Amino acid sequence: MARRALVTGATGQDGVYLAHRLLACGYQVAGASRRPTPERLARLGPIHRRLYWLHYDGSSVASWAELLKKAEPHEIYHLAGPSFVPDSLDDPVSAAEQLAMPVVHLLEAVRRYCPQARVWIAGSSEVFGAVEQSPQSESTPFRPRNPYGVSKVFAHGMVSFYRRHYGLFACFGILYNHESPRRGERFVTRKISLGAARIRAGLQDRLVLGNLDARRDWGFAGDYVRAMHQMLLAAEPLDLVIATGKQHSVRDFCKIAFDYVGLDYRHYVVSDPALVRPDDSALLCGDASLAKIRLGWEPRISFDELVRLMVRCDLDRLQRSCGC
Ligand code: GDP
Repeated sequence: MARRALVTGATGQDGVYLAHRLLACGYQVAGASRRPTPERLARLGPIHRRLYWLHYDGSSVASWAELLKKAEPHEIYHLAGPSFVPDSLDDPVSAAEQLAMPVVHLLEAVRRYCPQARVWIAGSSEVFGAVEQSPQSESTPFRPRNPYGVSKVFAHGMVSFYRRHYGLFACFGILYNHESPRRGERFVTRKISLGAARIRAGLQDRLVLGNLDARRDWGFAGDYVRAMHQMLLAAEPLDLVIATGKQHSVRDFCKIAFDYVGLDYRHYVVSDPALVRPDDSALLCGDASLAKIRLGWEPRISFDELVRLMVRCDLDRLQRSCGC
């Protein structure tokens, strides 16, 4: 009998990649989304019809219980929630409500109604926040400095508690930035890939960014959902850092993206001080050695390949939509 998976946030970047992977592996997949509108479902392509769609509302144990009753999952991937970190600075209460509390509601519902199910919770490198050492690993202290990171630390604490105290198979993935052509347009990588494609097509003449020297450990989302799946198939539940271990600057991203379309980024990209984040970490870089040892996981797509893939997809989309 096919294994059943429940994926929350199934219309988001990671949800789409994960749904494709699980279907390809023969799973029955229930997708849960807060707003499964036709536009959002279209992000999955034709395969959205192969998912069983449910309404996501993580605001109580009862709402999770309802979801679990309908999906009867062997594996639960909890990806739902806002992902743009600066939004959490404007509305800390909403960040806690959407990122922290749904995790304890979920774990409690699993404990009561399907304790054999395996649970994967989306963490983030934002748990490390004000880092003092680089790279960071599972033993690096958490020092979150925004409500997004604080909420993820709460989620991590609950996962550890339910695993230790109730014996749930619950995992927390500490994922570093992961990108793809499906990334939202407010994130810097997509802003650049789309900007380069639009400038090439003559649809805009410059690209305004924040700090060009900001650095991140950027990987490909498709590689990161493979890690999620492998974590739930492992012999024991673990919390793991998932990262490439390589840092690049926003400027590096711009250079490769604009080179790809035959332009020199220095003529088009400008830095606006208003977009520079005051306490941006320069040290975020993950050490995923443990994921390699325990799962055999390693990223397959390089930074250069990722940038080129994103720009190529944006060029294709523009050509399809406006014939340019
Ligand atoms: P985050 O790491 O989850 O906040 O992902 P983002 O893609 O939003 O930001 C990644 C890095 O790019 C951060 O260091 C930002 O400060 C930096 N950055 C520089 N210019 C921009 C910009 O115009 N937009 C965004 N979103 N980030 C920018």
